[in-house]
Amino acid sequence: MPGMSPNIGKIAGVEIQLHWSFLLLLLFVLIVSLYVFALFVILFICVLIHELAHTITSQHYNIKVKRIVLLPIGGVSVMDLDKVKPSQEFYIALAGPLASIALGLIFMALSPFAPVGIIRQTITFTFEINLLLGVFNLIPGFPLDGGRVFRAYLEKSRSYLRATQVTVKLGNIVFFLFVVGTIIFAIYAKGYSMVEREFIVFYDVFIVMFLYSGSQAELQSAYTRQYASDLYVKDAISKNFMIVNKNESLGSVYAKMLKKHTNIVLFKDGADVKLARIPTQRQNPNYSIIGKPVSSFGAKLPIVEYDSSLYKALNEMQSENSAILVVRKGPRIAGIVTEQHAESIIALHVSKKLSGRDKHAKS
Ligand SMILES: [Zn+2]
Repeated sequence: MPGMSPNIGKIAGVEIQLHWSFLLLLLFVLIVSLYVFALFVILFICVLIHELAHTITSQHYNIKVKRIVLLPIGGVSVMDLDKVKPSQEFYIALAGPLASIALGLIFMALSPFAPVGIIRQTITFTFEINLLLGVFNLIPGFPLDGGRVFRAYLEKSRSYLRATQVTVKLGNIVFFLFVVGTIIFAIYAKGYSMVEREFIVFYDVFIVMFLYSGSQAELQSAYTRQYASDLYVKDAISKNFMIVNKNESLGSVYAKMLKKHTNIVLFKDGADVKLARIPTQRQNPNYSIIGKPVSSFGAKLPIVEYDSSLYKALNEMQSENSAILVVRKGPRIAGIVTEQHAESIIALHVSKKLSGRDKHAKS
């Protein structure tokens, strides 16, 4: 659900975005209890501090951080990882967990001095949640910080792809053990009801599934980086789109779409190029919006230069949550690249190279 994660401000020049799942959770606990809501606000601040530690370390190396997305189980700093050296990634990834652990230790030292009751309870929670954030993120598997730290370390003596493969394998073993451990805990731990036991298992399986999909994405991205670095945006460019004036009515755009046999409609809005998200019939049941200008349905698209690598373009689409990207050649729009098309071209290219390599290895 992109677009449903609101921006809540800027720190150190970086946009801070609250992921919709975090927002939903906050609203839910607000209904349940004001105290639990306060604890979630503390969690939110702790995750933010963790991410800012990554951000500040990146900026120290002159690596641009585009935005920070805050999730209930941690955050994601979206940054330009293209040009990051392994030694830099090592420290950038390590900074977050270290900040969390340091913060946790400070609150741990404070807690005996706090008055017994709600204040001490809150301080204890803050120290526990920070230690958990720090230690959990140090697990050596993607997409966790520990995976990045471990890969950066392996890259001293291995290629990027090889280091990623080893880290993904190790991560999968750790995730598997995590699930097994949780199930054993849920069966044998005393003092939990059946519902609580089920909840613990489901919650952990959910987190592990989330981590597993992140780790597979990381592996795929490493293959792309290794084997598709000779593909460029021009290899995947498409002309199947049309540009209209932003003031044009939806009705007139419909007519042009039929004539030009395309459903991808772009328009310029200042320096931005936007995609017109043409409403479906269901969103327009009484045909009342047909006279509205197309600019009221716009979504900003990422832009890359014509000579960019396809790997970079795909990264850009994924980090911007956009299935389409605009290709610029000088001042004009040279075409578009869709995520699906770019992925097919890369998949074909990589599999050709891999089968060629296997043949070579056998002969
Ligand atoms: Zn982190």
